[in-house]
Amino acid sequence: MEPVLVLAHAEADGTLGKPALEALAAALALGGEVTVGLVGSSVQPAADQVASSGARILAVAGEPFAVARYSTDAAAAEALCRASGAAVVIAPGTSRWSRALPGVAYRLGGRVDTHATGIGIRNDVPAITRWFYRQRMEALLTRSQRPWIVLLDAGCLRPWTGAPKSANFEPLAVAAPETRTAVSGVEAAQAGEQTIRPDAKLLFVAGAGWTKKQADGATHTAEAEQLILDFLRRSQASLGGSKSLVDLGGEGEAVLGFMSHMNQVGQTGSTPRHPKGLSTCCHGEEPHAVGWRFIGERRAVNLDANCGWARGKADVVYVADAFAVMREVNRLLAG
Ligand SMILES: Cc1cc2nc3c(=O)[nH]c(=O)nc-3n(C[C@H](O)[C@H](O)[C@H](O)COP(=O)(O)OP(=O)(O)OC[C@H]3O[C@@H](n4cnc5c(N)ncnc54)[C@H](O)[C@@H]3O)c2cc1C
Repeated sequence: MEPVLVLAHAEADGTLGKPALEALAAALALGGEVTVGLVGSSVQPAADQVASSGARILAVAGEPFAVARYSTDAAAAEALCRASGAAVVIAPGTSRWSRALPGVAYRLGGRVDTHATGIGIRNDVPAITRWFYRQRMEALLTRSQRPWIVLLDAGCLRPWTGAPKSANFEPLAVAAPETRTAVSGVEAAQAGEQTIRPDAKLLFVAGAGWTKKQADGATHTAEAEQLILDFLRRSQASLGGSKSLVDLGGEGEAVLGFMSHMNQVGQTGSTPRHPKGLSTCCHGEEPHAVGWRFIGERRAVNLDANCGWARGKADVVYVADAFAVMREVNRLLAG
């Protein structure tokens, strides 16, 4: 196996996040020589965290490398790639690396692949898996060009775990490039309450049915909002929405106020990974066929026994009124 570099940026507290440890697990499983390349303001906690993996540790540290910024991140990553001499570079697909590493691949005359879901050895060479056409087809890819930079999607592999110990690392002196960008802070895109929780055990998907006229001929949006929020607070589930529901919000209709396009799952939304999913009042093909692609165990609540996508894609369909079901679920969770 060719030498592998794992690129990891330290989080605000100096440690590595779960996606970085997933990338390390992927690299170690390949069985070759592994180097970890750290970037951050102070990287000692991150180095200690991975010391017992046995990997060589290189680092670019200092205040200019604390924040996500293309010019400084690309300079640090380029220096780490060159110093390690790695043929294969594995990095977590964070927004920070996704922005910087394609440019680094260009500078090194290599290639980059994004959204890889796994890496292994096939016919004696490294090969990655990746989904195409909005998660409908899975491909196995190899490349002859080196270095090959692979951005690994978070949540696909078990993170590496090992006891922290005091680490010695090799610092690389990298002059921070001149930069026009000063990072003043991070503003998360969310409508109000935090409802997107990638690490939650359950994904709760709300469809447009929550805002439609119900059996009494009236809409009950305020109650829908209350039921869903109560459930999310009690269960700590993550919230997904169908396109119809999140689009209604954009048109200024009376809808669930805490729901934004960031919650949308499906072909033109996200494809999150959670062990379980519960879809409510949702009929569409895209949320069921694509949005749920990587959900382990799927259940749906729909008034319509003939809802083809719920029937086709859920393991269990409850033909029931979601208002009544969630009222009862919340009562049980409160008890
Ligand atoms: C190019 C393209 C891309 C698209 N991308 C996406 C995408 O990424 N994500 C996405 O979601 N959609 C996407 N769509 C839209 C998609 O085709 C559907 O129109 C949309 O998903 C429908 O949303 P829905 O199921 O929430 O609403 P509806 O189709 O209106 O279904 C509402 C459901 O709620 C049920 N219901 C109503 N009241 C209750 C109740 N009290 N209890 C239980 N059930 C109830 C009804 O029986 C019905 O099945 C895309 C469309 C196109 C053309």
